[in-house]
Formats: sequence, C-alpha cells, structure tokens
Amino acid sequence: MGYDAEFYKEIDRIYEQRREENMRDLERRKQAVFARVPRLADIDYEIKSLGLKLYKIALGSADVKEEVSKLRLRQMQLLELKKSILTENGYSEDELSERFHCSICCDHGTFDGKTCECYKKLLTEKAYELSNLSALLTHQTFDTFDLSLYSEEVDEYYGVSPKEHMQRILDICKDFVKNFEKTDKNLLFWGEPGIGKTFLSTCIAKELIETSHSVIYETAYKTFSMLEELKFKKADNEERLRFKVEKLYSCDLLILDDLGSEFTTQYTTAALFDIINSRLISGKKTVINTNLSMAELEKKYSERVVSRLYGHYQVLEFIGSDIRIDKSVNN
Ligand SMILES: [Zn+2]
Repeated sequence: MGYDAEFYKEIDRIYEQRREENMRDLERRKQAVFARVPRLADIDYEIKSLGLKLYKIALGSADVKEEVSKLRLRQMQLLELKKSILTENGYSEDELSERFHCSICCDHGTFDGKTCECYKKLLTEKAYELSNLSALLTHQTFDTFDLSLYSEEVDEYYGVSPKEHMQRILDICKDFVKNFEKTDKNLLFWGEPGIGKTFLSTCIAKELIETSHSVIYETAYKTFSMLEELKFKKADNEERLRFKVEKLYSCDLLILDDLGSEFTTQYTTAALFDIINSRLISGKKTVINTNLSMAELEKKYSERVVSRLYGHYQVLEFIGSDIRIDKSVNN
C-alpha cells in the first residue's frame, strides 16, 4: 500500500536540489557582499579558520580547555561583528548564511531521527500532483459536502427524498474510506451530471491521500486516449505515458470519472475490462462515475465488463436535480 520507491526517490531528489540551490544562493550573496564590503570576507575567513582549529583540537587528546574557550570567545565576537557590519551596510543579519525552505531540518527532510513536518507536507503536495487532483480541490471534503442542496421532498419513484438518499450515500463513502484497507468493495456512482458524483469521489480521494494512499483521478476519455496513444502512436513522451498508464493499474485507488462519455472502440472496451479485472485481482480499489445505467453500460461496453461491475462494485444511484444549476438560481 502507499507509494512506490520511485515516488520517494523523487521527493529525495527535491530535497537534494533544494540543498544545492541553497548553497548556490549563498555563494551568489557572498560574492556580492564581499565585493562591496571586503572586510567581511576577512572576518568570514577568520571565523572559518577558527572553526577548523577548534575541530583539530577536539580530535587531539591534550587538555586544552583554556585554549578552546579563548578560541570560542573570539569566534563569537567575530560573529557578532559580522552581523553588525552587515546591518550597518543595509543587509539582513543572515545575508552570509544559508537560507532554508525549512529551518527545522535545514532541508534534509528529517530532524532528530524523525520525519520533518515539511517532508510530510511535500509528500501530500506531490501526491495531489500525481493524482491529477489539484491542491485547489482540498476544500472538497466530507464536511463541506452540502446536503442542504438536495431536496427534502420525497421522490415518488424512489420513495425517499434526495437529501435522505444522499445522506446514506455519504455514509457509505465515509465507511469506504474508513475500511479502505479491509474492504474488497468498489464503488460505482451512477446518475445525472451535476448531482455530486465527482465531488464525493474527490472527498474520498482527499481523505485517502492524506493517509498516504496513492490515488489517481482520471476521466475515462483521458484514460482511453492515453492507452490508445501508447498502443498505436509513436509518442515522444512514451516513457512518461507508460509511467502514467502503469499507475492506472497499480495505484491504491483509481477514480475513473465520466465513464461512458468517450468514444468506444473494440480496443478501449478490452482495455477497460483489463483495468477493472487486473485491479480486482490485485485487490486495488476503484471508484467509477458514470451517467449510464448498467443496461447502457452493457450495450456500450460488454457483458464481461458489466458482470465484473455487478459482482464487485456497490452501485450507488445518485438522485435529485442538478445542484450546480439550483445553486446558481439561488444565488
Ligand atoms: Zn523540515
């Protein structure tokens, strides 16, 4: 479960780049300052020499307490002098020091043998990037899912109000997240556009990303065009494409949005079956959003696909009218 080694390597590379850039940035500032205030170059050099001397003494075994404290005092004085000359010349006190994205771990990602908070933050950011869910969508949570947008009027056909029905679906989604590691359930959201299917899938994605699960969100249209491009065209970005397609199979949760809106071919039908079936075999969960009923799905794809859906997916029908339209009318 979680991310693969390549994902963590990518994060480590970012920290490495940050540290290299910090050094280059310091070097640039140093050159500029020393050119303007040469005295600071001498002080800087002396501070370094003192540091080296102290290091050598520490390696020796002789009792050199007195000498050490003398050198330390001198070093402190020079550091203070350096600061005051910098501020006198209009620089900030840290102009000749390395500057870090994170001052706690100095851009190493770990501090005191523990993972730094900045590392966790970066991990989540990268996970959002990888999932195709922009960080902007982070406000879409179960808590912000607004049930008041659904009618309380009982729908004659279903014998329940859209609001009550959606409350049940919301509970099922929360349970799905809570039992994600244990469940062998997959979800299929079916209903008209604009009644919350994508919103609720995003909520599920967000919760799982926050708990270090790898999530990919992709529209069916994009999924199949990637697969076709990889199969039939000689793409310049073949390696990148292969990587993305591989993730469709291996991520902890795949959200396949808007299934049925794309143009199908024999190849895409076979590819859809392959993705669904492979993920079932490897125990990876999938959430599918579609406007099509099971009968329509069977017509568009194949009986094979639909039998997998029937057998392994909990089908949740979204009811009500387009909440996006209602919302704009109310505004
Ligand atoms: Zn940090």
